[in-house]
Amino acid sequence: MIKKINHIAIIVPDLDSSLSFWRDTLGLTLTHTEEVKGQESIVAFLPTGDSEVELVKPTTETSGAARFLAKRGPGLHHIALEVDDLDEMLMRLKEKGVRLINETPVVAAGGNRAAFIHPESANGVLVELYETKAG
Ligand code: ZN
Repeated sequence: MIKKINHIAIIVPDLDSSLSFWRDTLGLTLTHTEEVKGQESIVAFLPTGDSEVELVKPTTETSGAARFLAKRGPGLHHIALEVDDLDEMLMRLKEKGVRLINETPVVAAGGNRAAFIHPESANGVLVELYETKAG
């Protein structure tokens, strides 16, 4: 079951200059910054009520995120849908022939579990399925 939009991720080349807009100009609060090794990125979370804005800055030149940024420039990167049971959701999507980037969950920010759906299966949008530790 999908519970809500957990976060919307924006890919950026530089966190400080992005924070000067999202935090300092818009007035959102930066709650935490974290390096996500598996995704070769540093991420910054700014809550907006029940959901968050996630700024993603690639830390290598070769990751999917880095190639996305090089090709398209900064902008909307993915939408994260929070699910209560990621394994069950992945099984269901595989049965339906949905193209997945991650067939099995990977470790996301905060030790949460995530898996990405390929944009080809989701009308051009990169969708992250996100299961929080809290459940
Ligand atoms: Zn995300």
